[in-house]
Amino acid sequence: MTNDNTTPANQPAFTDLGLDAQILRTLGEQGYDTPTPVQAQAIPALLDGRDLLGVAQTGTGKTAAFTLPILQRLAADKTGVPNKGVRALVLAPTRELAIQIHEACRTYGRGLNLRSAVVLGGVPKGKQQRQLSKGVDILIATPGRLLDLVNERSVRLDAVQTLVLDEADRMLDMGFIHDVRKIAGMVKAERQSMLFSATMPGEIDKLARELLSNPARVEITPDAPAVERIDQRVYHVRQPAKRELLSSLLQDPEMDRVIVFTRTKHGADRLAKQLSTDGVPSDAIHGNKTQGARQHALKQFRDGRVRVLVATDIAARGIDVDGVSHVVNFELPNVPESYVHRIGRTARAGAEGVALSFCDPSEQNDLKRIEKMTKQRLTIIGDGPIASERHAHAGRKPANAGGKGGYQGKGKPSNQAARGPKPSKSGERPPRGNRRAA
Ligand code: AMP
Repeated sequence: MTNDNTTPANQPAFTDLGLDAQILRTLGEQGYDTPTPVQAQAIPALLDGRDLLGVAQTGTGKTAAFTLPILQRLAADKTGVPNKGVRALVLAPTRELAIQIHEACRTYGRGLNLRSAVVLGGVPKGKQQRQLSKGVDILIATPGRLLDLVNERSVRLDAVQTLVLDEADRMLDMGFIHDVRKIAGMVKAERQSMLFSATMPGEIDKLARELLSNPARVEITPDAPAVERIDQRVYHVRQPAKRELLSSLLQDPEMDRVIVFTRTKHGADRLAKQLSTDGVPSDAIHGNKTQGARQHALKQFRDGRVRVLVATDIAARGIDVDGVSHVVNFELPNVPESYVHRIGRTARAGAEGVALSFCDPSEQNDLKRIEKMTKQRLTIIGDGPIASERHAHAGRKPANAGGKGGYQGKGKPSNQAARGPKPSKSGERPPRGNRRAA
């Protein structure tokens, strides 16, 4: 199984997958040369009408993998759509992801003359009701708002032929599984179904068995594709010194499009304000912000007017911004899968990226879990007092304790650190390329 986004010599071309001429033209216009592994494996199966289980995270090209076959099949089948009806339904856990999928449908569906719409919570219903009144070919929805609209009879699901659940594990995390089951129960049993999930906890496995019938299975391993290409480093730094460290690192102009992850919404707001006060244009994105404010922040970030976007995990899921130079884990996530999702915001679409993690002593166990899951040791930058304490505690003499070039928990770290310093001796780390053996 291919497990990254690069293109091996035997990788098929888009023209080998059964896609029609109009879609191939659009892909050419998008500058897509070759299918990603998930596209190469999923598209032929889906064009054949099979159900699909895709174990793949964002950044692998999975959106095109499911939207292209849907668009092609809808365009080929001229059956009309009843008023308030839907032919293909895509469920997504977050508003941002729903909007992105909708944008992808519009882009990839250019010239196919299909009607699409997106419905999501947090915005007035009027426009959504109007768009649905004549029926749509493809609807992208978050589960709660969709159920609202079904209950008030603004939309009906009896004409749905294709059902997609995207980021099913996140649906579970966010408590949407019950709604998802309810919606699936409203769709007729003779349909094509697809389920995508970055991870396969037992509950998602169960859901997949309920919803999919003899599915083709495409698995892009969890620590790929992005993780391999990302330079991952850790700073051992106490929580109160993290902001100063971040501000110092941001003096490096190479950190030109940065996503910083915090654990809490409040922490995200506070950090974005502080960075802006320090002269670094920043904004925060999290679940307490209105949809308008989230979209505005994303647009400013995409357009380069905001250099740092501070985000919480849920809000950041599915953010599709190319050219993110660095991801900073201001606090480590306590679920190691979230680490993989976070750092996958950089190194999108084949690019390289850098992920910096700030680790307070209380986060040591989180770091261990991350290294265990990714099967990689993160490069330790510097060897400051915290590292010394750890070594002393373990009864060992710290290597390079108090040595130069590392962040000491106060003062200014070398900006080279943000780009690509040599790991300190205490990193005890094999050279890049051998790391996975660790
Ligand atoms: P996704 O995993 O669907 O979120 O896609 C990640 C990014 O890859 C998006 O920015 C897509 O526009 C881009 N992308 C998807 N497929 C390809 C491809 N075959 N070649 C180049 N870029 C792609």
